[in-house]
Amino acid sequence: MKIPDTGETHDAVLADLEKFRQHDLNVRGGHVFCYSYHPGADVERTSESAFVNFLTESALDPTTFPSVMRIERDVVRMIANLLRGDENVVGNFTSGGTESILLAVKTARDHARAHRPEVKEPEILLPRSAHGAFFKAAAYFNLKPVIVEIDPETFRAIPKAMAEAITPNTIIMVGSAPQYAHGVIDPIAELAQVAEAHKLWLHVDGCVGGIQLSLMREMDEFQIPDFDFSVPGVTSISADMHKYGYSPKGASVVLYRNKSLRRHQIFSTTDSATYALINPTIQSTKSGGPMAGAWATLRRLGKNGYRNIIREVMKCTRKMMDHVNKSGDVRVLGQPDMSMFAIVSDTINVYELADEMRERGWYLQPQFSADCSPMNLHVSVSFANVAQFDPFCKAFDDAVAQLKSRPPITVEDVRNQVAQVLGESESLEAAMEKLGQVAGLANGQLPERMAFINTVLECLPRDLRATILGDFLNDLYV
Ligand SMILES: *Cc1c(COP(=O)(O)O)cnc(C)c1O
Repeated sequence: MKIPDTGETHDAVLADLEKFRQHDLNVRGGHVFCYSYHPGADVERTSESAFVNFLTESALDPTTFPSVMRIERDVVRMIANLLRGDENVVGNFTSGGTESILLAVKTARDHARAHRPEVKEPEILLPRSAHGAFFKAAAYFNLKPVIVEIDPETFRAIPKAMAEAITPNTIIMVGSAPQYAHGVIDPIAELAQVAEAHKLWLHVDGCVGGIQLSLMREMDEFQIPDFDFSVPGVTSISADMHKYGYSPKGASVVLYRNKSLRRHQIFSTTDSATYALINPTIQSTKSGGPMAGAWATLRRLGKNGYRNIIREVMKCTRKMMDHVNKSGDVRVLGQPDMSMFAIVSDTINVYELADEMRERGWYLQPQFSADCSPMNLHVSVSFANVAQFDPFCKAFDDAVAQLKSRPPITVEDVRNQVAQVLGESESLEAAMEKLGQVAGLANGQLPERMAFINTVLECLPRDLRATILGDFLNDLYV
């Protein structure tokens, strides 16, 4: 496509964009169980207006746009209070969980550079269930990730194992509330004791659930362990507004115990001939839209609005997990603490289950195995899904019955095929190309059914899997 010489009409432009949506799944209708969090049309009307009204305001220079500064301060304060931070707790608004995590890790690294200069090769201690964003942060900021396996029954981090993996180079450790994969909360209080005993930075990843869990903690009907700033030893927390905060996308908060820690987050330079660059976050020019959208959502819903959503979502989640567990062929992993869970099966290939559900208009998210966590489908239940409980169960039962009526793609068969390709190929490059072909990942094209590809990827060594997926993405984008 080229930029048209003559500008087109408002209607023509928007109509084309709308057409692009034809093949998207019914997200607002509650057919997607990840990525999307809709608080309902009424609230969205407010948050979308706020978002659009502040689209062109820039948070680059708080002195030029005091409105944006005010909005950011309000959002940060509201979330800091929710997470029981005292008046010393500070933070910033970021574009999402990944940016919050990148910043927390960078800040911990620069804090260590200042206070522990003897550490030349800093390490970040991660439970296997830590989000991929921490691995990205380690890669971007040159930390060595040290990975500790999680409990194979509960899928929670094991504080004793984490403690044993500490070295003189460890500067930061991570726990999640909850971790995304299985929806369980790591034992944050115990991890904090380990961190304090070794004088380490502890980051709590509350990206997906920090906001909902805090609200649940305040409700009588739920039991939520302490995971926030009430726990001594917690140094920083990330919490996304654009997940269970139900705000429009591009909204997260990163918080620090105090200002002297956050100082290491801020970048400033006057070496350039252009204006002095003073940035608290990774973005420099930064739209006021997402902040205004988050501010508006918090104010429009209020705690009671969130509580009503949470009650419905938690009821629906429990009914869904019961339904899954009743089927006999599939079951939920561990005992999820919130509204996310992972489905496994001993009799059917869950990646085929994802395809069957997709054909029926539903999206469940495949997750590869990782040590004690078997291959599974992730389900995040949010408000839009609640009204779809009955149709979901029907589609789910249909899909399972369909799979029971034909032979599955078995991991054993695929593993043998993969081993053969790897064995026959002369070089790793040749093997990779062949595997890409076997998996159907050629030329940036995806087939309708993903189960075979996913099972091939499932059977590959982790490094190879990551490389193939990276190559694929490189082909997918122009
Ligand atoms: C989603 C998620 C992230 C990353 O957030 P993005 O907004 O997608 O960048 C980090 N941690 C957890 C636990 C998450 O669920």
